[in-house]
Amino acid sequence: MKAIKIIEPGVVNLAEIDKPKVGAEEILIKLKALGLCGSDLQTFRGQNKMVSYPRIPGHEIAGKIVQTGENVPSEFQVGRLVTVSPYSSCGKCVACQQGRVNCCPDNQTLGIQRDGAAVEFIALPYKKVFLVGNLPEDQIACIEPLSVGWHATNRAQVSSKDIVLVFGCGMIGLGVIAASGYKGAKVIAVDIDDLKLEKAKVLGASYIINSQKEDLEKKIFRLTSGQGVNVVIEAVGLSETFKKAIDLVCFSGRVVYIGYTKEPVEYDTSLFVKKEIDIRGSRNALDDEIKDVIKMVESRKIKIENIITQNYLLKNLGEALRFWDKHTDKVTKIIIHFS
Ligand SMILES: [Zn+2]
Ligand SMILES: [Zn+2]
Repeated sequence: MKAIKIIEPGVVNLAEIDKPKVGAEEILIKLKALGLCGSDLQTFRGQNKMVSYPRIPGHEIAGKIVQTGENVPSEFQVGRLVTVSPYSSCGKCVACQQGRVNCCPDNQTLGIQRDGAAVEFIALPYKKVFLVGNLPEDQIACIEPLSVGWHATNRAQVSSKDIVLVFGCGMIGLGVIAASGYKGAKVIAVDIDDLKLEKAKVLGASYIINSQKEDLEKKIFRLTSGQGVNVVIEAVGLSETFKKAIDLVCFSGRVVYIGYTKEPVEYDTSLFVKKEIDIRGSRNALDDEIKDVIKMVESRKIKIENIITQNYLLKNLGEALRFWDKHTDKVTKIIIHFS
């Protein structure tokens, strides 16, 4: 079968590899669509320390069941559409013991620490496979990245009572916006790119702010009667937005960070205490959250199709990564198709 391998940073090849064998607990999935993740771009650029080469990228999967192992429950019928959780967990560490398997230190994500899904067929344990209804394949491929944003809103305990400020309207930020809006919160989306802000509006933001053109602080305090927002979720990874989150959250508010900053961040920590802020990190997503996102997408209340910006065929995956590398501002989600 065909597979795409990143041989070394910048070098992408179409390869012929063996079709996987299906274990007793496994499901064989024929790929229909694959979303490219920011981590795949990092692998292409040689910027991810967790990746060794050659590596088959990809973990945002839309596929169809073509075969099941003998111990797989009968609801997983051949022909059903599925997506998958690309993460693994050890089951033994403190995080795993508490059910927080998404932050297991031994996590191995498909396409990062182990080979991924830029292949015609992939065999995975049925516990990692989730049935989806009759949705377009490109939208099914968006479920996993949307779940990362959904998880952040759970970390922030977002409810319909909240005003949520979201820094960053890339894929992950849009997932936060969609989830917060779906949960009934009022969302303020902040970015410096008007096109991304327009997407934020379509995905459920009540207010959009271009922080390069408008006075962010003034606008936030005006919108919240001088109090600040209940929740800030940072999905950019810049020291400036990490700090602004603390300034703009209200007393007793919650701040959740998804972005990774490259440099250490300097804080006036007195605000942590004075405001008694709950500050949390957020990474990946839990299986139940993927199921909740499937329900959200199936409800068709969120216009997921607006996330997708480019489409390529599997054999042109290298071209897709080269395009993304040069035009990061033009890409929200690239979908790879298999026919
Ligand atoms: Zn990803
Ligand atoms: Zn663990």
